[in-house]
Formats: sequence, C-alpha cells, structure tokens
Amino acid sequence: MSEFRADLHIHSTFSDGTLDPETLIVRAKDAGLQGLSITDHDTIAAYPEAFLYAEKAGLLLLPGAEFSSVHNEEPVHVLAYGFPINSPEIKALVDLQIDFRKERNVCILENLKKMFGFEITLEKKEIGSLGRPHIARALMERGIVSSIKEAFDKYLGEGKKAWAPGTKLTVEEVIAWIQKARGKAILAHPHLINRRKVLRELLKMPFDGIECYYANFLLHEAKRFLEIASEKKWIVSGGSDFHGDNKPYSRIGSSFIGKETFLFLYDHFQAASKTL
Ligand code: AMP
Ligand code: ZN
Ligand code: FE
Ligand code: FE
Repeated sequence: MSEFRADLHIHSTFSDGTLDPETLIVRAKDAGLQGLSITDHDTIAAYPEAFLYAEKAGLLLLPGAEFSSVHNEEPVHVLAYGFPINSPEIKALVDLQIDFRKERNVCILENLKKMFGFEITLEKKEIGSLGRPHIARALMERGIVSSIKEAFDKYLGEGKKAWAPGTKLTVEEVIAWIQKARGKAILAHPHLINRRKVLRELLKMPFDGIECYYANFLLHEAKRFLEIASEKKWIVSGGSDFHGDNKPYSRIGSSFIGKETFLFLYDHFQAASKTL
C-alpha cells in the first residue's frame, strides 16, 4: 500500500469547478489518493450523493466547504471540515451566502452592462453556487476575453471596474457558524492575503487550523505557516484547490495531507454525525 494521501481542497460543478463530483472522485482514485474533500464555495450540494461515488471507488470522503468572508474589506476564505452534512447551522450559513452571491452577481452583471455595454446572462443553477468564474466563462464564450484570467485582470478582479463586494459576513462570524455546526474552521491559502496587518489579525482569530500545503507549493513555501500551526497547535490542512479547466495549473493531489490528520478529521466527522 502506498503512502496515504488526501486532497482536502477540490471544487466541483456545484460551484466553480468544471468536473462533477463523480468524475472528481474517479480522478482522485486515478491520482492514487485514499481520501479527499470536495470544498465548493458556499455550498455543500455535492453531498450526500458524493458519498456513494466515494464508496464505489473505495475512497474516504470528508465533508467540506469553502466559505467566503471579509475582514476589513479584505476577502478571506474559510474552509470547513467534518461537520454533519445535515447540520442546520451549515444549511443556514449556505442560505445566507447564496443570497449574498445572488445580489453580488446582479451588481457585477449591471456593471458590465452599464460600463462596457456587455449584456451577459448567467445560466440559472438550481443547486450550488455561482460566482465570478461563471461570469468570466460567459465573457469568454461571448469572445470578449480569451481566458478566465483575462476576464479577472480586465473586469472582475478585486478593484477592477465591474467588481462588486460579496458576502458581508466577517471571518469571526463564519468561524462561529462552522464551529457551532461542529465543523473545523481552517484559514484557507493564507499566502493570498494581501495586507500583512490583515494576516496578523487573522492569525489571532479562533481558527482550528490553517492550510499550509497548497496547489503546487514547494515545501519551503509551506514552512512559514507550518511554524505558525505548530505554535498554535492548529490542524495543518492542505489540498490542490483543483478547479478543472477553470484553473488549469493545479492538478488533483498536487497538495495533500497524510493519514494522521485525515483520520483525525474523519473520526471527528463520524462522531459529530452520530450525535446530531
Ligand atoms: P467568487 O467566489 O465569485 O468571489 O470567485 C472567486 C473564485 O474565482 C476563486 O476561488 C478562484 O477560483 C477564481 N479566481 C479568482 N481570481 C482569479 C483569477 N485571477 N483568474 C482565474 N480565477 C480566479
Ligand atoms: Zn473557486
Ligand atoms: Fe479560495
Ligand atoms: Fe478554493
């Protein structure tokens, strides 16, 4: 048996990934993983069906999600793991976030129309969440940009003309929701936080863990956050942030965690689910 590896950061078609949960699980198996978490933005719509695919593939699937939040106007992503999938708190949090996303998407589409004359419509999604990558793809399909990156660079990125703020939930509020749901709250990709002061303040918040291994990171890039995790006795998480064709540079399993951390989270999930 090869070394146990689990990729805890993967997006599906229920948010802005381009592969559905069943395909993701087959790909995870092909990549030699033993465990994974599907962490869609602000939704857990991949669950519970994804458990059936995972069982068929002989993989362990840990419930997860990546929630949006803000701290002093800086967007911050918080990963949640190991909550019972029928948790009422997670459902309430998802509902709140989806409403913020709807409002924001309308704003962005209005900006694109008013400022640039682009009339973009989004396909309605009955379940799951829609965000800027869906708008970027629509701009690409209309021939307005030639890549998703160009759509972000020109129109949708933070501070660009069509950008609009998203969720109003603070990082502390999102952590509290996750912990009330008996999930573990993990600071996602801390290296992407732009302002040092924001990162300093985030590191004082009551997170349960921090994402140290990310996408194609080299070990020395993880080191800085591994030291912080060790000091705070935080869970060290990691994953590829795989989005399929929406982020072609990261493969499933490019970052991962080992058996001990995975089983800690998985056991926590099973215990929390029994008592709901
Ligand atoms: P949203 O959730 O609507 O705020 O969109 C955020 C998502 O857009 C991120 O999780 C990434 O998947 C994607 N994204 C952000 N910036 C870029 C970029 N410059 N190029 C491509 N995708 C991006
Ligand atoms: Zn994304
Ligand atoms: Fe993220
Ligand atoms: Fe992500």
